[in-house]
Amino acid sequence: MTITESPIGTAPPLRSSRYNFLRETPTALEVVRSEGCYLYRPDGTKILDAAGGAIVVSIGHGRREVADAYARAATETSYVVPPFATTARVRLVERLVDRWLPPGLDRIGFASGGSEAMDMAIRLARQHHLSAGRPERHRVIGRELSYHGTTLATLAIGGHHKRREGFEPWLVDQPKAHAHYCLRCPLGKTYPSCEVACADSLEALFQQVGPETIAAFVAEPIVGSNAGALVPPDEYLPRVAEICRRHGVLLIADEVMTGYGRTGRRFGVDHWGVVPDILVGGKGLTSGYAPLAAICAREEVVAPIAAAGDQVMFYTYGAHSACCAAADKVLEIVERENLVERAATMGKRLRERLGALDDHPHVAQIRGRGLLYGVELVRDRATLAPFPQQARLVDKVVMAGLEDGVFFYPGGNPPANDVVCIGPPFILGDEEIERIASALETAIDRAVAKIEGKGR
Ligand code: PLP
Repeated sequence: MTITESPIGTAPPLRSSRYNFLRETPTALEVVRSEGCYLYRPDGTKILDAAGGAIVVSIGHGRREVADAYARAATETSYVVPPFATTARVRLVERLVDRWLPPGLDRIGFASGGSEAMDMAIRLARQHHLSAGRPERHRVIGRELSYHGTTLATLAIGGHHKRREGFEPWLVDQPKAHAHYCLRCPLGKTYPSCEVACADSLEALFQQVGPETIAAFVAEPIVGSNAGALVPPDEYLPRVAEICRRHGVLLIADEVMTGYGRTGRRFGVDHWGVVPDILVGGKGLTSGYAPLAAICAREEVVAPIAAAGDQVMFYTYGAHSACCAAADKVLEIVERENLVERAATMGKRLRERLGALDDHPHVAQIRGRGLLYGVELVRDRATLAPFPQQARLVDKVVMAGLEDGVFFYPGGNPPANDVVCIGPPFILGDEEIERIASALETAIDRAVAKIEGKGR
């Protein structure tokens, strides 16, 4: 998305590229304040944050008590090395283990964001096998259409072709499992007659590369913006968990986008009662108030490492005390205001209202759970033929949404080329739901008209 003019309001755009080196980022859009579900521009015009930033914000913007908690912790203990524990960190870990995480996940490490945390999770899995005397287990199996971050290791295990492009010479070749992408099934099957063959194909892949060489299998329980809120068939996750267990392969759940209530349960895996060996969550952990992500593991994963006297290297800012205090306060607010339940109920209402788009000629599918939705767009609904990539349909939809005062998150990656993502703060009300649905319809129509040469 290249923004050359101020998309809404009268505030002048920031013309300089000095604020960002990413061409596709709306650097021209200056935001001076944020509150509740809204971002405010220098001229006072407001934008409804229908994406909670990058599907991050859960409790809403501008909540003073989080900033106060952060300030208190920063004053108390500005910095200690991550092997030390601060009061804020201890409190957060206890909250996570006692009230949030699936049972048995009680060894917690921290990083500053999702990519770093996923990178650490992969290293933790590898170190687990090394320390247990199984150096042959080095492969980490990811899936097509999944995204786990932008470090070289996480790009290597992910299936985000656009983000991998050009870096392939640096990426260790890791086998990829099929995605559970029922709209265009990679196995040419149809649910339920397929009997969830995509899950069984993991077993075949394990056999092909040798299960004794595999350290871990990595999956987002609900695939995020890369594929657009792809929810698996109910049988999928329990079955792949069983395959992993049977072969001594660690299951890593990447809940960076789905964790901490986004899908209407505490974690995505909770929809299917699956407890992974390692669970990674970021984004919603702090609702965007501070950079922090958590790597949560079962004791059995960590025990061989400790027994061998080995370790997994920390990041300087992992477990930063003020960030831990912000996360603890955010989760306290989520609990106090029953926001996980609210994400489930408001999510159902949002889905109902989006139903007006189910028959839209350019909407192939609306999918998701809780307050995470993806709307996949196509040129031809009958054949599922997409618009040409050069048309940059999703960027145009996002721009049209901004012109109308609503921010949607751009997603999609071949073959799910064009996906608009919706992930608002959990505190949204009916007024915001109405705005999101009506602005999305207008934005899609305007973007398509522009591509077809009929729009302004
Ligand atoms: N994993 C998933 C599932 C994500 O959605 C993201 C980011 O969107 C990441 C990892 C990377 O997280 P970050 O951007 O915080 O590094």
